[in-house]
Amino acid sequence: MKILVINSGSSSLKYQLIDMETESVLAKGLCERIGIANSNFVYKAHGQTVEQQIDMPDHKVAVKLVLDKLTDKDVGVIASMSEIDGVGHRVVASGEAFKKPTLVTPETMRVMEEIKDLAPLHNPAAIVGVKACLSQMPDTPMVLVFDTCFHFTMPDYAYMYAIDYAHYEKYKIRRYGAHGTSHKYVAEEAAKYLGKPIEDLKIITCHLGNGSSISAVKGGKCIDTSMGFTPLAGVPMGTRSGDIDFAAAEYLAKKENMDVSQTLAYLNKKCGMLGVSGVSSDFRDLSAAADGGNDRARLALDMFAYATKKYIGAYAAALDGVDAIVFTAGIGENDDRVRAGVLANMDYLGVKLDADKNSHCPRGVIAEIQAADSAVKILVIPTNEELVIARETVREANLA
Ligand code: ADP
Repeated sequence: MKILVINSGSSSLKYQLIDMETESVLAKGLCERIGIANSNFVYKAHGQTVEQQIDMPDHKVAVKLVLDKLTDKDVGVIASMSEIDGVGHRVVASGEAFKKPTLVTPETMRVMEEIKDLAPLHNPAAIVGVKACLSQMPDTPMVLVFDTCFHFTMPDYAYMYAIDYAHYEKYKIRRYGAHGTSHKYVAEEAAKYLGKPIEDLKIITCHLGNGSSISAVKGGKCIDTSMGFTPLAGVPMGTRSGDIDFAAAEYLAKKENMDVSQTLAYLNKKCGMLGVSGVSSDFRDLSAAADGGNDRARLALDMFAYATKKYIGAYAAALDGVDAIVFTAGIGENDDRVRAGVLANMDYLGVKLDADKNSHCPRGVIAEIQAADSAVKILVIPTNEELVIARETVREANLA
């Protein structure tokens, strides 16, 4: 069985074709600058990469290109489109409308239109991606897999904001979280790796990438997460502020004559590591700058480690203890200095990093990096959001 996983952005489309028998990637790639000049198409299969500057005026053309390549005589991996058993679409926001992965039907697409403004940068792109795939594969089952689904097990006291309850009821304003597929995947992988039933484990998962979020997972279920109504909340990120006093934002908006949307764009795109350091949103650049004596790069990195550490402390309390802390995503998997900064002086919690194991942590595989006398396991686990989306597609479309 083969599942195509689609992750649509407003001007991009990432794809993977996954063989579900072996859970291996047959082909993957990226369509960039859709609808913009100099569109770029990348296709990887058979250990080779094909890159083409080719006009992609819209997502429909991009999907057609992907399907043509997948079935191409020379570089393709399938004989015809009929070999694709299902398509899984990543969707950022669900609101309370979808609490689990959901089959694409005219009715679900109508609801998707209704909740579009929950994630104005991302959800409209997902709708465009679904329509583009439907135009090429009208009879193939498709499933919407939401970043928020894993977090619906949070208790009400964790997801509620302390606002007028009537406004929660009317507008569904609450914490939804994000990166749910990643948190779910690494928590389950951690349990498998540790050889223990997930029902018995208390795990803190740290998805640290361009966007970063931390989750508390008890018995396999999310009980709290650091992102909020949108991915703006939580720890400071590449370009996002993370948690901030709304009154500070309002004060700034008045001083700088910004309206609400401008202020939101500023908090999402000009703040975080980039804003504080003035150097970059990329942690590799920040480390290099800090090593070169740039004090604001040092400050940004310290703020990130401190904020992440605070969430870990808070979630150890929320979980009534912790068995394992998991690091994943671009920074979590690769940046040993960030991991060391986050976990410094946590012995009192039973969390003790092995400095050598941490700095020599192998890439692309699960690694254990706690000291021999650490009560808490510290794991680095490569995330695989596409595989979770493919598995959910098989389940929801009854393809198994
Ligand atoms: P996204 O949220 O876009 O999926 P990723 O999970 O790919 O982000 O993480 C991207 C970030 O990971 C980059 O901004 C960079 O700071 C960090 N990163 C990637 N590789 C390394 C590395 N080898 N060392 C340190 N940081 C890295």
